[in-house]
Amino acid sequence: MTDSKVRPSLAGQGTAILDHFIKDPELMAEAERLLSGRTRDIWLKGKLAQAFRKRSSRQTTKVIRSWMIWVAVLNLVTLLLNMVLLPYDVAVAMLAPGALIFPAAIGVALVWRKPFPELVLDSVLAAGMLLILLSVCLVAVAAGEALTERYLNIMLFVAVTGIIIFNVPYLMTKGLALAALCLYLAFQLQIPGIEIKSTLSGFFFFASGVGATVVARRTMTVLAQKSFLLELRDRRNMFELAESNRRLEQIAKIDALTGVANRHWMREKLDALWRQGDRVALLMCDIDDFKALNDHLGHLEGDRCLADVAKIIEGSVRADLDSVARYGGEEFLVLLPGVTETEAMATAERIRRRVMAAKLPNPGSRVSAVVTLSVGVAVGSTRGGALTAEELQTQADTALYFAKRAGRNQVQLWDPEAQDEAYRVERLA
Ligand code: GH3
Ligand code: MG
Ligand code: MG
Repeated sequence: MTDSKVRPSLAGQGTAILDHFIKDPELMAEAERLLSGRTRDIWLKGKLAQAFRKRSSRQTTKVIRSWMIWVAVLNLVTLLLNMVLLPYDVAVAMLAPGALIFPAAIGVALVWRKPFPELVLDSVLAAGMLLILLSVCLVAVAAGEALTERYLNIMLFVAVTGIIIFNVPYLMTKGLALAALCLYLAFQLQIPGIEIKSTLSGFFFFASGVGATVVARRTMTVLAQKSFLLELRDRRNMFELAESNRRLEQIAKIDALTGVANRHWMREKLDALWRQGDRVALLMCDIDDFKALNDHLGHLEGDRCLADVAKIIEGSVRADLDSVARYGGEEFLVLLPGVTETEAMATAERIRRRVMAAKLPNPGSRVSAVVTLSVGVAVGSTRGGALTAEELQTQADTALYFAKRAGRNQVQLWDPEAQDEAYRVERLA
């Protein structure tokens, strides 16, 4: 059984079902083509028709089931009222054919509760309707000449309500109309002594009425199909908007060369952590003598080195908790939430060692023939102090400055006693 032939479970069929269709370019192109034309020319075929049926099946099922239940209830009420209001023998004669309506209607309502294939549901509906209409015709005969005409009119009324409210394939709607008119004509002709001319005039009168309802049903279907196409288009637009927002967000967040976050995103992240009052460690990492690498190996090799170092740093921190950003040319800022000084120093040292162990060449470096890193570390939180995120960053920067000053290729922790004053004197003087 293919998916298109099976009515999916009625639960959970909402707009989510559309998400499957909006990803089908062929289907969406056809939807756009139809929407660009006149409304009255809209008539869905193939995959679109199946999609429409799936989308509206929940509502169609509800309408058909409640119609059937009401027919069954009204049938019981009518039979009971007949017993009270009509002569006893007439009412009894109508009981047997009339009693067929109840099981037919309830049978259809029960079958339509289950997610059977569409073919099964449609066949059961067609059979049920035929049985109901035929039963009303048999009741018309059983009721006697005086009431036959009235019951045949009731039969047409029943058929017309079904035609209008059942959102089923158009072929079924036309079949139902044809069956009702044929039954009407056949049972009219059974009435003894009826004039053929008056039968035919009555028939054509009702045929035009039934025909008008078939046309009305088609118009309703066209309008429902148009709403479906508009809904598909809206959903697709929403989806594309969400996609491009996601891409833009990605672009705004990522440094294109290294693939890690950029400075702007890191600032936001740090500010957010700071607002929560968590303890945060900042690692300011700077490649040693990077200018020399560019000078000796070229800018392109320098770019490649930046990407490699970024990967090494990312691989040295906790993937789910820590953040790495390219902060400047050859500087990377690492943010470690909730760690102690010892843990922060251990991570910084791990990063430094791994970069060195990668043996990326830097022939012009004064420190080593391979790429090395200097790292400044600062740990702080808003709790119990008036430290700002900027101040913490300045501390990490200062610690980095001292790592450079002490010979590079090393990690230094921010030390307020030793570094604060010296930094002011040496760098800011
Ligand atoms: P120090 O050990 O003191 O950090 O020395 P350094 O040479 O690493 O530092 P300096 O600030 O003197 O030079 C940084 C160099 O980084 C200069 C610049 O050309 C280079 N740079 C900045 N951005 C990029 C980039 O995107 N790609 C490449 N290849 N080089 C870059
Ligand atoms: Mg630098
Ligand atoms: Mg540098």
